[in-house]
Amino acid sequence: MGSVLKTSTIESSIIKPIKHFEEARKCNTAHYRLEAMRKAAVSFRDDMLAKPQARFYQSMGLIRVPYPSKYAFLNCNVIPNPYIHILNRVFIVQVDSEEGVKTILLSPSDAEANAETPYFRKVIDKAGPLKALVRKFLAPEINTVEACLKQVGLTPEDVDYISYDHLHTQDIRRWLGDSKNPGLFPNAKLLVMREEWTAANFLMPPQLDWYCPNGLAGVPESRIIQLDGDVMIGDGLALIRTPGHTVGNHSFVAHTPEGLKVTSENGVGPDCYAPLHSRIPGLKKYAQQTGMEVILNGNTLEGGLDQYISMVVEKTIAGNHPLYTDFPNMANSSELTSYWGFPGYRPTVTYGDLSFGTVYKKRSPNVAIADSVCLESL
Ligand SMILES: [Zn+2]
Repeated sequence: MGSVLKTSTIESSIIKPIKHFEEARKCNTAHYRLEAMRKAAVSFRDDMLAKPQARFYQSMGLIRVPYPSKYAFLNCNVIPNPYIHILNRVFIVQVDSEEGVKTILLSPSDAEANAETPYFRKVIDKAGPLKALVRKFLAPEINTVEACLKQVGLTPEDVDYISYDHLHTQDIRRWLGDSKNPGLFPNAKLLVMREEWTAANFLMPPQLDWYCPNGLAGVPESRIIQLDGDVMIGDGLALIRTPGHTVGNHSFVAHTPEGLKVTSENGVGPDCYAPLHSRIPGLKKYAQQTGMEVILNGNTLEGGLDQYISMVVEKTIAGNHPLYTDFPNMANSSELTSYWGFPGYRPTVTYGDLSFGTVYKKRSPNVAIADSVCLESL
């Protein structure tokens, strides 16, 4: 593996390598790697909790989409309905750094462009002339990234970084531009694991249904930061490599007043990280029969054993939710949600949109404008 990070000098003072998992990742045998990674996760959690929190954290629903239950609850033999409904959220996070306050958008989905992902395209196209109606029913839009930013009082110019836990369905051209358009976020760069960037640019047949055609095409190289390992982004936000759901998957760990919130799509909600406490049909039974600690979300099956280890790492870093103590403190980016059109599956717990701290606005250089009013409309 090359250097942990290849960034400008300024960026190296914002994005700093984390060493906790380096040795554990070297265990070749999955059985031993699981326990080494679990131990490293405990140590990382303790260290991160002892350090400063993120300045601002807001999650907001963007769109709900259908998703096959056979992938969401891999191998569980769930029966009631072939589809579940998942809610995609965007996470707006601000952190302090040596270069001032930085604004990061986690999982900013461009719903319009994502609809071109072959899997979604096929589902919608089946409806023929009723496409528009069916799309509204199957994939109701709740909000847009632009509107979410506005609602918290930020502008597109305020965004320093964007990142996705993985690149399934994503089209980043609207945000970062391509050869024809400058992009909506003039100052933003994508933070992505090197393996993910490479894999998404050179797809294999089992992956094709789940990647947006040309979603990365023509985006200037200067807007992409490829990471070779775990990093902190300023104070209170970490990106931890959690391969499995995709080969270059990573998880966001945000330090909030409610502990460490971990965001990923290795699982589709807290139920999948604590199946023995789940009331979703089939999960508990499957966990009892197999000894599985977690239920994988597997549509492209890029690394099953690693995904299992990654989910154990995620729930160990998260710890238990302070109120729902049987479940970990996950804030999944695509979360199982109840929907009348998709009966049969209800999450046992859901934490909803989350909001912590006060947004920092760069209306004039180095001046923080405390603003608690802007969140009232959320
Ligand atoms: Zn995915």
